[in-house]
Amino acid sequence: MTGDKPYKDGCAFTGDKYWPIAEAKIPILDWGFLRSDANQDTVSVWNGMFFRLEDHLDRFLKNNEKLRFSISQNRQTIRQILFELVRRCGFQNAYVQMLVTRGRPPIGSRDLRLCENRFHAFCLPYIWLAPEEIRNRGLNAHISNIQRIPSKSVDPTIKHYHWLDFQMGLFEAYDAGTETVILTDSQGNIAEGPGFNVFMAKDGVLFTPSSGVLEGMTRRTVFELCEMEGFECHETTISPKTLHSADEVFLSSTAGGLVPVTRLDNVPVSSGSVGKMTLQLNQSYWNKRLEGWHGTPVDDEN
Ligand code: PLP
Repeated sequence: MTGDKPYKDGCAFTGDKYWPIAEAKIPILDWGFLRSDANQDTVSVWNGMFFRLEDHLDRFLKNNEKLRFSISQNRQTIRQILFELVRRCGFQNAYVQMLVTRGRPPIGSRDLRLCENRFHAFCLPYIWLAPEEIRNRGLNAHISNIQRIPSKSVDPTIKHYHWLDFQMGLFEAYDAGTETVILTDSQGNIAEGPGFNVFMAKDGVLFTPSSGVLEGMTRRTVFELCEMEGFECHETTISPKTLHSADEVFLSSTAGGLVPVTRLDNVPVSSGSVGKMTLQLNQSYWNKRLEGWHGTPVDDEN
């Protein structure tokens, strides 16, 4: 299994050791697994550079506090583990996830305070939200009535693993002959999808849902790009009807940057081709990343 390139498919850090990705395991009784009691953050590496690494670490550590997780690794140690994972894999473009699971109390107890929380991380080759051919022509997305887990139940600014709503929404999307799903909120307005935030453009102005969503790092990046490109962008409420009447729709994610949506429920968005603002912002996103914008080189001594 390991051979002379043990990390060619990826590498994980768990149980205080580095493992070839296929050999990494978490204990079956960990409540991270049994109860989705976990927090994660995912940072990408492109052209040998982490993107917004410190912002991802800020979000991860803040959310660990919100969930009352306590781990022995401090920020600097976590940073070093992430660098080491990418170095071992040797990937120029990578998908790097850090996470904490609750662990579990001694058998017989259900006292959360007795859990030893565990830090894990892994590195895989860069993952795209959709393959290149689909990114070029734009996705066909289904707008589902399934409600994204409400903010009052689980804080959406935590990057959590409560994904059954997304998973079932995806099956609904496949059954409808579409490729991905956008969930709605308790009022029936647009929320977010599995691994992405949603944007639309109308008459040259961009809009994205203001609440009930993860404050995505790419979403934040889109706000910054809009300022640079001179585009107006507002956080607001978007109904499915408004999204259907958009000139352009795109998704934002660490797994792909800006990904166009050119059909909603099999109906073309405007002319059905990738919009100009989407193209301009996406080009700007990737060009700036190549130039090292918000970048930290993987081979930096830290
Ligand atoms: N919304 C959800 C539910 C997500 O899981 C993600 C990323 O995985 C996003 C939005 C996009 O966030 P980011 O831009 O930080 O990748």
